[in-house]
Amino acid sequence: MTIRFAERMINVKPSAIRELLQLGADPAIISFGGGYPDASLFPLEQLNSVFQTAILDQGRDALQYTVSNGIPKLRAQIAERMAKEGIKCNQENVLILQGGQQGLDLVAKMMVNKGDLIITEDPTFLGALAAFNPYEPRYATVPMDKDGMDINALERTLAANLEAKFIYTVPDFQNPTGVTMSLSRRKELIELANRYDVVILEDTPYREVRFEGESLPPIKSFDTEDRVIYLGSFSKILAPGLRLGWAVASDDIAQRLTLLKLGADTQCSTLNMAAVSLFLDSFDIEPHIANIRQTYLRKKNLMLDTIRQTFPQEVSFTEPSGGMFTWLTFEYGFDAGRFMRERALPEAKVAYVPGAPFFAVEPKPNHARVSYSTQTDERIFEGISRLGRLLKTAVHQAKAS
Ligand code: PMP
Repeated sequence: MTIRFAERMINVKPSAIRELLQLGADPAIISFGGGYPDASLFPLEQLNSVFQTAILDQGRDALQYTVSNGIPKLRAQIAERMAKEGIKCNQENVLILQGGQQGLDLVAKMMVNKGDLIITEDPTFLGALAAFNPYEPRYATVPMDKDGMDINALERTLAANLEAKFIYTVPDFQNPTGVTMSLSRRKELIELANRYDVVILEDTPYREVRFEGESLPPIKSFDTEDRVIYLGSFSKILAPGLRLGWAVASDDIAQRLTLLKLGADTQCSTLNMAAVSLFLDSFDIEPHIANIRQTYLRKKNLMLDTIRQTFPQEVSFTEPSGGMFTWLTFEYGFDAGRFMRERALPEAKVAYVPGAPFFAVEPKPNHARVSYSTQTDERIFEGISRLGRLLKTAVHQAKAS
């Protein structure tokens, strides 16, 4: 039979990394590829207690359909947390989502016609490209350095693309680079967006997982023109399987996104929303988040120390102050995907994510994303040491040939 797929499916393809990462599922392989949080940090007992209460005390409501933008109590709790971050909003500006990921889809659905331009960081979050691609956008990319997007380059891009629909940024501990946008760049970014009259999509699921330095205000906190759509998530501070995140946006945008959500999935799980709302009411989430931060700080330090000790100096890496990733840069001409397939997996039994697919326009093969979140301390030390020894051998072999 012939299935007459929509044209948009041309942009919907499995990525080559998926296959590579499946090889990493072998228990003999130490994988730094996955983007999962450390499951030992999920607050199981507390979640068990709030789910029980949600079912036993509120079951008739908590198992019923509810409004598409999410249960009012949880929206109010999120609005309160956002206010502490300097974001002025009320519960009508908050829309509960099936993870921040759903926000990426719904915003693109709301704004992007075929051929419209989205500006992204270079590299950018792969899941965002997966969400945007079915809407058939064009991309313009803005290079990054250790302080985030290069704002001069962004200005040139905006000047050359006055019709750009939105700027997509992950300002805190970006996936994949681990880089955080500096305070001055956040201010410059919003000024530019105001001047060029363009929307900013601020996606920040790692924001609360800062383990070093002072938290920087969200870009949304500088927004005087309702042009920032903010996305947050419970995935990294509670558990991703709950599939709960949120958007904060103007009344108009929140209402339009709610209509799209109604069509997409009606609502998030009433039970999960009720349980998380009870969690925020019954327990102090701050010590729990402090524990997550401490664990990731330890793992990050261990990984970076091991990289310093074992990697050839030709490989550079980012120093994240939060989140789950460091980003490796190899010498020009090095193909991290090929190296993983031909050497890292068979010889060192180590996996990472080759960097090429994170670039929206021009793939750069000499990068890799390495995550310190899921592996134990022992396996971080062992896997990174093995990779470092292999890379040193490879550098020597390349020089000798
Ligand atoms: N944005 C970024 C930058 C991410 O890294 C992720 C998760 N890996 C998401 C959004 C989506 O997360 P969730 O849907 O679980 O909230």
